[in-house]
Parts: sequence; structure tokens; C-alpha cells
Amino acid sequence: MALRAVAVAAPELPEGGPGVFTLKSSDPASLFNACRVAARQAARGVGAWGETAWARSRADRRDRVLLMHSLADDLPAFDALLAREQPNLLLIGAMSVCLPGAIACAARAKELLGDDVCVVLGGRHPSEAMYVDGAGVVRHHVSSPVRLMAEGLVPPVFDLVVSGEGEDVIRLLGEAVAGQVHANRPPSDAAAVAAGVRGAAGRWVVGWYDGTEARAVVAGGAPLHRQTLPTPAECFGVTAAFDVFDGRLTGHVFSDTGNGCVFDCDFCSERRSVTGGLFEAGTAAGRLVRQMRSVAEVVAEDSPGYGAAAFVEDSTLVGGSPRQLADLARILGEAELPVRFGCQFTIDQILSRGSLIEDLHAVGLDYVFIGVETLEPEQIGGMDKDQRVRNGTWSSRSRQAIDRLASIGVKAGAAVLFGLGETQDRRLALLRQMADWRADYGSPTPVSLNWATQHPLRGGDHGTGYRYTDWSIPPGRWVKAFANFGEATALYPVHGAPPPRVEEVEEVVRLYEELI
Ligand code: SF4
Repeated sequence: MALRAVAVAAPELPEGGPGVFTLKSSDPASLFNACRVAARQAARGVGAWGETAWARSRADRRDRVLLMHSLADDLPAFDALLAREQPNLLLIGAMSVCLPGAIACAARAKELLGDDVCVVLGGRHPSEAMYVDGAGVVRHHVSSPVRLMAEGLVPPVFDLVVSGEGEDVIRLLGEAVAGQVHANRPPSDAAAVAAGVRGAAGRWVVGWYDGTEARAVVAGGAPLHRQTLPTPAECFGVTAAFDVFDGRLTGHVFSDTGNGCVFDCDFCSERRSVTGGLFEAGTAAGRLVRQMRSVAEVVAEDSPGYGAAAFVEDSTLVGGSPRQLADLARILGEAELPVRFGCQFTIDQILSRGSLIEDLHAVGLDYVFIGVETLEPEQIGGMDKDQRVRNGTWSSRSRQAIDRLASIGVKAGAAVLFGLGETQDRRLALLRQMADWRADYGSPTPVSLNWATQHPLRGGDHGTGYRYTDWSIPPGRWVKAFANFGEATALYPVHGAPPPRVEEVEEVVRLYEELI
């Protein structure tokens, strides 16, 4: 076979696995989304992908996708994957905090496979660090992997870097690598492989460093048709199980409206001014139901006897649009799918769309995850989603939202976010408040801890200028302190906030373990 492809989610930690309280799925959902068009080609036996091991079964495709948490713990599995597959296309997905892990994995692949592998970096970090500006010029943030290689700060271990919508790009990368192999040319020839993706649909940039200067190919303008995208479940199966769904196998589903949110909270990498907001939002409900149906069918086919559940990855469910929420309730009611599901809403969406949430509960909504972040948004410079200040304080509306969900019979989980400039006293007060709500309402459960991390934000990082080449959480005491956090950082605090002190983080964790 000409093409041998593997895909890896880069580790965010130098050592140590996720703590027992972290909310981390066993599935690399972003990587599944990115690789799904290529996976469908494989499943249909079409082109170069159709001749690879990806063509055999969902289980075979999963076997070629690896989710890494820490470099030290997961490097043996990565080495084993490279040794077994001898890939000539290695796709690495990375958030900013994963950049050191991505560099280490790419370097390892180059050490073992040399020019016989084309190493491609994609994901959130390249998408924020390499972008096309309003004048149509490709820009490189100081943390752009292409720029870092050009400046000699990172060895030339990435042959190509992909920014933006990668679904169709990855399909054509596979074809281009196979073409190189057929022509007896190295798959790592960046210019030749990049030339092969020119016709890919979507908004994307493919960049590389040719040893002299940064080069790039930019999308030609063909749109990515969201209505026809395959579902991750049909491509990769469903094997994770979220505790909140009582053992049901749980698929990640998405309305495919892009990575954006309808809100614009300054600290958030999903905010609309960075991501461009939502796309094809008027048909979101239909796409979401198609993904849920796919989860139900795949669970019934691959794991008969198990129940099915889905967690919706939209920043807020179908953008919180009342019309789309009503459509979703109606279509789910007609479809009668055997799927329970969870999603995310803002506090104010819960309070203003209570009857729609009741309708959704009647057709499967069991769980809502909310971002509480802080009790006093004014202390952290405000939050765009804090829209109904005239109706009471953020804290009182948060309580009302949890009360409302409990009265409907919907479980709630919550994320808190430290590191936005609040005092240590306020952090401890927030945890005590969470414990009080849990005593009163039985939720939020779980409560996820996060420490705000500055992202490149397509240059909107307020000049912090981080390059992300050092581990965001250094090994040793920091790794232990942040073990039960989701995203967190010791090195890359958000603009205007001081870096965390390890003693304070440890005090937060002690109270969390005691109360929550
Ligand atoms: S509402 Fe949530 S996801 Fe949307 S921008 Fe604000 S913090 Fe980010």
C-alpha cells in the first residue's frame, strides 16, 4: 500500500497521567473530526485511503489514532505505533499547551523514519498562530511553528503545518503522499505534498519552512459542505463512557458550526472574534440529530446490549438559538432515538430558555455543563456571556440556573476557571459556594478545575508574545499540583494576570478534595 497514515493527539504534560478528578475523555474527539473525511474515503475504498489499513473497519482506524496525555507515560505507545505502522504520513494535532509534546513526537518520528515520513502539525495551536489577515496576507504569530523553525528555535521536524479546517486537507494530504511514493519521491517533500492539497474545500492555510523562508498555500475558496460531512461515530466508532450517563457508551457529537461561540468572552479561545463565530447555524439542529442517530446506530451495531449517549461539543448547544433549540426538540421527538445526551449552556441561556430545556429533557437531555468561572465577573474585567446583569448578580443567577435545572430533572456539571486576576480568597470562596450548591441541589457534579491559559488568538493575545516551546506545566511539583485540572498553566497566564503560585494551587486542590 502506498499510503500508511497514523494520527496522534500530542501530550500536554511532560510526565504523569490525568488525575482522577479531571474531565478528560478517552477519545481524541478533535482528531476524529479532522480525519473523518479521509476515514470515509477509506471506508468506501476510494483512492489512496481506500487501499490502507484505514479501509478495514472502525476498530482498525481507531488503532491508528493515538491520544497522548504525557510524553513520559505515552511515548512507549507512540514508539510502538511507529514501529508497527512505519507511517509515511504522521498527523499530529496540538493545542498551544501541547506544542512541546508535538515537537518531541515529531522529532522522534524523524529520528526513526527520517525523510520516509511526512510529519504534519494541525489543530488549535497552528490555527491560532498562522492565519490569513484581512488583507489576504498569511501572518505568523511569534509562536507559529513555521516561524519557530525559521528562527531556529525549533528543529525542522514538521514538514507541513495546517491551520484552519483540515477535514478535506487531510484527505488530499494522503493522496499527495501516495503520489510521492508512486513516483519514487520522498513523502517529506513539503512543496510537492502541499501542491497536492490546493483543491481542498474549507478555510485553511498550509505552511512550511523550506530551509530559507516560510512558504504557504492558501485555500482556494471552495466551501466545506457541513451538511455532507461524515459523522465521527460512523468513522471511528463509540467506545468511551461518561460517568454522568450511567455506563452508556458516549459519542462526541457536534452541530458542525465551526469552532466558534456566539459570545466573545475575552479570556476564551472559542470567542467569536477569534474563530469567526458560527457557520450554517440555521441547519445546526438537523446535523446534530444526524450525529446522534449515528451514535445510536454504531453502538447498536458494534456493542449490542449497551445503551447510547452523546455529549454535544458545541460551545453552547446550537449557539443557544431559540429557533434551533425548538427544531432540535421537535426533530428528536419525531426520531425517537434511544440516546440520552448532554450539552453546554451559559447561565443566562438556562434562565431565558427554561421551557425549551424542559422540552429537550423530554427527548433525551439529561445533563448540562456550565461555565461558572467566577462569582464576580467584574473583578476579572467582565465576561461577554454575563448578559443579564439587570436580573441579579452572576452568583445569584448561577444559583437560579442550577436550581432551575434541578427542578426540571437535568443534572448539572460546572467548570471553574482560576487565573483571571482574582485573589486566592475568592478562589476558595468559589469552591465553598460550589459545595453549598451541591448540598442544596445535588449539583453541580462534577466540578472541573481550570487555570486560565493565554492563547495566541490570531495575534489578539494583547502582546503577551508567548512562544509555547516550554512545557506549560513543568515537571515535578507543578505537574502534581495541576493533576486534577483540565487546561492549566504555570508559564502562560492570561494577559494582565500574574502567574500562579504553586502553594496557592496546592491550597485550592486541598480544599477541592475536602469539599468536592
Ligand atoms: S460563552 Fe463560554 S465558550 Fe463562549 S466565549 Fe464565553 S467562555 Fe467561551
